[in-house]
Amino acid sequence: MAPSYRKSQEMFEESQVYIPGGVNSPVRAFKSVGMDPPFIARGNGSRMWDVDGNEYIDYVCSWGPLILGHRHPAVMHAVQRCLERGITYGAPTDLELTLARMVVEALPGVEMVRMVNSGTEATMSALRLARAYTKRNKIVKFEGCYHGHHDSLLIKAGSGALTHGVPTSPGVPENIAGNTINARYNDLPLLEKIMAEVGREVAAIIVEPAAGNMGLVPAAEGFLEGLRKLCNQYGALLIFDEVITGFRLSYGGAQSYYNVTPDLTCLGKIIGGGMPVGAYGGVREIMQMISPAGPVYQAGTLSGNPLAMTAGIATLEQLQQPGVYEELNRKSALLAQGLSQAAKAAGASVWFNRVQSLQCTFFTSQAVTDFASASTSDTKRYAAFFKSMLDQGIYLAPAQFETAFVSLAHTDEDIERTVEASFNAFKAAANI
Ligand code: PMP
Repeated sequence: MAPSYRKSQEMFEESQVYIPGGVNSPVRAFKSVGMDPPFIARGNGSRMWDVDGNEYIDYVCSWGPLILGHRHPAVMHAVQRCLERGITYGAPTDLELTLARMVVEALPGVEMVRMVNSGTEATMSALRLARAYTKRNKIVKFEGCYHGHHDSLLIKAGSGALTHGVPTSPGVPENIAGNTINARYNDLPLLEKIMAEVGREVAAIIVEPAAGNMGLVPAAEGFLEGLRKLCNQYGALLIFDEVITGFRLSYGGAQSYYNVTPDLTCLGKIIGGGMPVGAYGGVREIMQMISPAGPVYQAGTLSGNPLAMTAGIATLEQLQQPGVYEELNRKSALLAQGLSQAAKAAGASVWFNRVQSLQCTFFTSQAVTDFASASTSDTKRYAAFFKSMLDQGIYLAPAQFETAFVSLAHTDEDIERTVEASFNAFKAAANI
């Protein structure tokens, strides 16, 4: 029997009266899969339950932060203890010092770090800093990479912006958009041409070192090294947006995994352990330009707030345990392998990309290496796949152009169940 989503549907209907589109972030509306979203009541480990009592194995994990799963005891206890002392002070605490030190020790490209409240704030502030440092205005980004919703970067962006077909949002002034140059992911020859033309006006090249907002698209061999070289050659800064990849691809992020060191790094998600957080960091000489050490203004009432710092510290402490990433990646490989076999058995034509515990199933037969190839995916087939999985209790990203997140809380049995369910779902996708 198909599960009931009745209570969720009622709540969604009423939410649309009070909240634009009924949600506080577009992709949550399930628009691109043509459904109403379940309203979630609680989570535990690898599972979530909706208000109708349906249980799900969750591969969204709040879009990446929950690398330990829901309600990890170490995080819960630390936050509860912190809460007993107060919520926020608007004054420095030792928690900020601790998390900053942990981030600096983990990431080769970070000597100093500033905490903010979201990934959007992190990339917005990093761009301001890059522009101030280089005294240049232009930014290069890659089509299909998403870096948040501020004006300079909401241009040919991925994620919700991609799915909803609003690559450039109304309200972004043309003179700001005009400073953002779009390049093609994994296409160094094109970037070389662009830089030969305008390289001396470029403040920064910003990139997701594994692109997680057009599905998942890994950086091709030599791509990130090529960016590093071009930035050096033209005096532009290299910014890694590690909001997804930081503490995900390895404890040292994508920069350690790929062994390419950026000038500035943007973080979010995992470093907040599920609390609203972002951060940007980099070499001391550049970071010292930020107020009050220097003239580049950037501030935040709740930045570095105790609860977020505490959840982040507790999460990173867990990730420091030996063997954690090996275990995480083993589970992710198991899932990818199982899905690939199930797709084949069900006769579905799909392409799999995976980098460590990030992965994506594209409904296309061609290799996905950039935005154009990702766009060949059949989103109707993805929607059929998604709906069948949801009805079987598997909660995937409600859009094709997102990545699946495997967490440490996923058990081998969870993965087995997911793979079993996927056979029916691939069949449903193949037969539309
Ligand atoms: N950069 C990347 C790579 C992201 O994936 C996201 C959000 N998914 C952001 C920046 C923006 O972060 P936030 O939603 O916290 O503003």
